[in-house]
Amino acid sequence: MGDKKSVNFHNLTIEIDDSPKAVHYSIVGEIDENFRQKEVPRISRENIHLHLKDVGNFNSCGIREWIQLIGDLSKLGSLSFHECSVSAIDQINMVPSSLGSGVVESFYAPYYCQCGQEHTKLIVVNEHEKALRKLTAPSFTCSCGRILEFDALEESYFQFLVALPRAG
Ligand SMILES: [Zn+2]
Repeated sequence: MGDKKSVNFHNLTIEIDDSPKAVHYSIVGEIDENFRQKEVPRISRENIHLHLKDVGNFNSCGIREWIQLIGDLSKLGSLSFHECSVSAIDQINMVPSSLGSGVVESFYAPYYCQCGQEHTKLIVVNEHEKALRKLTAPSFTCSCGRILEFDALEESYFQFLVALPRAG
């Protein structure tokens, strides 16, 4: 059980769950001109986890603030990004410094099926490292039984993984 607090902006809530080994920042909403990074407490822990499942769009004011916050957190512990939304991945690919010294552990990716369904799939980097290194989308099956088609440009969408440190 951690110590919980939250910081609210107009279109954004940052929930902080602090425990002795790791601090979790869950970021929900839009990174826009209402986001003031100075109001977000910096907590130094061995592991700093950012949860970006519900991050929406970034605008140019928001991204400037974001880069400052991430830069500060990068100095305070081992920074990792979890369940990054499609918007977050688009932003990271456009502005790689959005990651600071952090690594992406898992992220969402867009897929569609010939049956008309769209799916957003969670990809855990460790589980699909081989495919991802070749800039190939991991394969998933639709509820109708067909293989899903990846709904973005693989070379662009997986760009942020190119700098991935090689295991072994
Ligand atoms: Zn289908």
